[in-house]
Amino acid sequence: MASTSRKLYDLTHSLNPQIQVYPGDPKYAATPLTTVAADGYQIHGLSFGSHTGTHIDAPSHFVQGGDTIDQIPLDQLVRPAVVIDVSKSGTVRPKQKITWSDIQPYENELKPGVIALIYMGWYEKWGTQEYFDHPYLTKDAAEGLIACGIRVVGVDTLNPDETVAEGEGENGFGFHSVLLGAGGIIAENVTNLKPLVGLPGLHVSLLPLKLEGIDGSPVRAIAWQMD
Ligand SMILES: [Zn+2]
Repeated sequence: MASTSRKLYDLTHSLNPQIQVYPGDPKYAATPLTTVAADGYQIHGLSFGSHTGTHIDAPSHFVQGGDTIDQIPLDQLVRPAVVIDVSKSGTVRPKQKITWSDIQPYENELKPGVIALIYMGWYEKWGTQEYFDHPYLTKDAAEGLIACGIRVVGVDTLNPDETVAEGEGENGFGFHSVLLGAGGIIAENVTNLKPLVGLPGLHVSLLPLKLEGIDGSPVRAIAWQMD
């Protein structure tokens, strides 16, 4: 049977020992255990935190007894998507607050079952110190998205809430608490969103590893256009 290959957009950062992680989280490490030269086959031992690289947060990241990563229905993570451009043409400042009023112009596209990807333009700073001083979403942004029926939200930053070196920022974990508290899912460190702005028929897949009882997992985030 003839099949045509579809263009897939890779929205995933590569994992390697140099990548940035949330302050205090374990670093990604890959240790060769055997080599083809010495053993005839190659195997690595991997170690990383559950919130490493491009990943999703399960409700149990913030909610006692909330769904864990293996309990999230797969169809919640493979869905139509809309990219919400709040990048202000690259003029978003470090630690700028993004509120519901920045997202509201997209309200008509924010229907139940749609995955909302918030494009702040910050993924271009991945690997620099400035990546930690990312813009962040206010609690009212989470409440507005939830009111539209949105349950899965992706950001191109380390965190939808403010990242501080230790403890919490003045807004705490407001976005996490509201979204995960509503049974939602957050994708963090999503990359390459700019080419997707305004694309009709956009779909994304954010499938995690099936880690029993765990609060998050790296994902291979991809997007494509449905004909
Ligand atoms: Zn996370």
